[in-house]
Amino acid sequence: MRWSYTIGKIAGTDIKVHITFLLIVGWWALIGYSDGGPGAALTSALALLALFVCILLHEFGHILMARRFGVRTPDVILLPIGGVARLERIPDEPRQELLIALAGPAVTLAIVGILLAILRLSGSHADVAQLNENQPFLAQLVSVNLYLLLFNLIPAFPMDGGRVLRALLASRLGLLRGTRIAATLGQTFAVLGGLYGITKPEPLLVLVAFFVFLGANAEAATVETRLAGQGLQVSQMMVTDFRTIPVHATLNQAVELLLSGEQREFPVLDNLGRTEGILTRDNLIRGLSQKGPQSTVAEAMTTGVPSVQPTLGFQEALDRLRASRLPALPVVEVRGVLVGLLTMDNITDLLLVRRAGQVVR
Ligand SMILES: [Zn+2]
Repeated sequence: MRWSYTIGKIAGTDIKVHITFLLIVGWWALIGYSDGGPGAALTSALALLALFVCILLHEFGHILMARRFGVRTPDVILLPIGGVARLERIPDEPRQELLIALAGPAVTLAIVGILLAILRLSGSHADVAQLNENQPFLAQLVSVNLYLLLFNLIPAFPMDGGRVLRALLASRLGLLRGTRIAATLGQTFAVLGGLYGITKPEPLLVLVAFFVFLGANAEAATVETRLAGQGLQVSQMMVTDFRTIPVHATLNQAVELLLSGEQREFPVLDNLGRTEGILTRDNLIRGLSQKGPQSTVAEAMTTGVPSVQPTLGFQEALDRLRASRLPALPVVEVRGVLVGLLTMDNITDLLLVRRAGQVVR
């Protein structure tokens, strides 16, 4: 997700904040300011930051449950619709997904219970069913957590309720149909909510609807890609017709190679035919402007490029390609021979063909 910033790391999971989440903190503080001056603005902003902690606890409910089933979570991102913990994979059994999905709301429910008990024991009778910035800090926090809980239980993607629904549907209809139904519900919900938000007008609701729509889309796309690539291995998805460039070639020669065909990334080989790195188009352009056309490929290429083996499975290969942030990875056999190039373009083409129902390779 673009426009997000990593602010820390807890138990191996990167904590990221989306810029719009910070905008909401500002927005909420502004509302507080216009109603009750600087003091109210501070209370409102603090309440949202406390909410931030509550959302994180909710997400760690998911994360710790996922870990019990051997599913890792590389990062969690905080959006205006709450947090999204990115699971490395969808758990194998629907029952596991069900438990992971429910663990977050269970944490939120516990938070609501504890905060409400503290609130009542301290003698407050504030109505927590209504969010009101004139109420005590703790009452506001309970209210927002209640909203968060109810919102997350909506049975549509990308909310937790959508995951519960998918898990229930997947055991009968299969993962793909279950996902499509939950995602379509999410999109419908987003469009209706967005339209309502525009006519009100309620900008916050429009923003939430926007993220729900994107989230539902992303969820459906992830599962479709995964299923389309099921059973594939790197040897079936790599480019086998490609050019390489020697490590001592000049950038001028690399330019000729680039312009002579469609290929944009070139594996760089040493005298013994070993892969030393990759020269991407960006590498080439930067090398030309900083060091000139007579400098060598060795000075401009990307080194330390991870290679993949031809027998590696689809999902793992895709994850490694994405993690490398490179447009292409060299495919190298056990003996060290370069046999192919793994590129996102080629994978996309292959999946399109497979989805169209053709049997390939
Ligand atoms: Zn959740």
